[in-house]
Amino acid sequence: MSFESLKLIPELLRAVADQGYSEPTPIQAKAIPAILERRDIMGCAQTGTGKTAGFTLPLLQLLAPFGSASPSPARHPVRALILAPTRELAAQVEESVQLYGKHLPLRSGTVFGGVDIKPQVKILHAGVEVLVATPGRLLDHLQQKTVSLSQVQVLVLDEADRMLDMGFLPDIKRILAVLPPKRQNLLFSATFSDEIRRLAKDLLNAPIMIEVARRNAPADLVSHQVYEVPALRKRALLAHLIRSRDMQQVLVFVRMKRDANRLARQLEQDGLAASAIHSDRTQAERMQALEEFKQGKARILVATDIAARGLDIEELPFVVNYELPYTPEDYLHRIGRTGRAGLPGEAISLVSADEMHMLVEIEKLLKRTLPRQSAEGFEREGRRQRHERDRPAHATKPQPKSAHKNTPKTAPKIAADGFDFSKPYEPTASSEPERPPEPTHRGRPQRPTAALLGGGVKPPTPKK
Ligand code: AMP
Repeated sequence: MSFESLKLIPELLRAVADQGYSEPTPIQAKAIPAILERRDIMGCAQTGTGKTAGFTLPLLQLLAPFGSASPSPARHPVRALILAPTRELAAQVEESVQLYGKHLPLRSGTVFGGVDIKPQVKILHAGVEVLVATPGRLLDHLQQKTVSLSQVQVLVLDEADRMLDMGFLPDIKRILAVLPPKRQNLLFSATFSDEIRRLAKDLLNAPIMIEVARRNAPADLVSHQVYEVPALRKRALLAHLIRSRDMQQVLVFVRMKRDANRLARQLEQDGLAASAIHSDRTQAERMQALEEFKQGKARILVATDIAARGLDIEELPFVVNYELPYTPEDYLHRIGRTGRAGLPGEAISLVSADEMHMLVEIEKLLKRTLPRQSAEGFEREGRRQRHERDRPAHATKPQPKSAHKNTPKTAPKIAADGFDFSKPYEPTASSEPERPPEPTHRGRPQRPTAALLGGGVKPPTPKK
């Protein structure tokens, strides 16, 4: 199977070749021909499967005849609308549109909340054929009449399940109400809940169902390791693991946004370069944290689930669940950040006694028991042999009984100075979990102030 055989136009084939893609991923092979035939699609696929190119390439091909070099805004109405749950995902999708559309005279733009609306108004006034938007900010533009959607031919809902989780359904319905009724609809979702089925039933017309396993199914490429550890020892164990296993790029998940800041700060104090990404940080701060991490300036990125959703960081070898997520599906989303591009990854979970019920749920979802590892000196009370307590706590060894086929064969090396038991425990100040914003009386997520970040911060220079 080649991109040529999918009947993509030369401008897109060039763009694909520029990216070095040799063949379409399974979802691309299925979605591209169906979208080119103007069929509606229900795609069950996660980030990492190549779904973005799967809908962007054919979408650009359908719009290519409308490309115009004219500067007149009237020649550049919004013809394709892509809705995404988070600003990061919206920005990444638009980046893909730019990338794949670089040899076509089509314009694209992004609008999302938490940043100054004026530069977005300017872009919209100039005209874009492809608009990528988060629902709330798009509604703001519709209310201010800074955008018209009357020419939209194709609607894409990307990560629809997450948009529903975040309470965006009322916003989506309002947006659907102003779109032309005759249009193509593409819906992508990582999960198939009843809510998604209902949305699909209302939205899609005789859809083609496309379901693909992750290109990197967790079972194939990601090794799971569970360390049962007292909550108070997690920080020391994390520093120990990072040092002793020489982890150069680690994405660490916590549940609360303040804990993300706190842990990043503490790791910095421990001499490990770390930054944090969560929804109380401004857009500029989030972009900077991500960039530092991607460039290797920060070895550790501490993230909350919402902030990390959809992040595309290639070749990430380690994901650490410093705390387990509230929902087992989020475990899958988290570990989906590693084991990408066919490379093996490790998902390491630090599990305290109060989190064991969450681990049970995750194991139920994965339909298997995750292999336990032990790090001497970090075992949970009751698991440690009495005589072991007096031994130096610096050796980490896998428990042979539960060793999984993918767990590393060699035991992690010993770090004599990787952690400091003498440091006092700093209790957690935050009791505020990172949660989707609550709907307001208008049924919209509350976004105005810092909640969805970034008040008063200048957005990155918008692309055209
Ligand atoms: P996505 O699932 O859209 O987030 O894409 C995941 C990653 O796969 C991105 O980094 C893409 O650049 C990459 N990708 C998309 N299509 C292909 C392909 N056909 N061959 C290799 N990599 C791809």
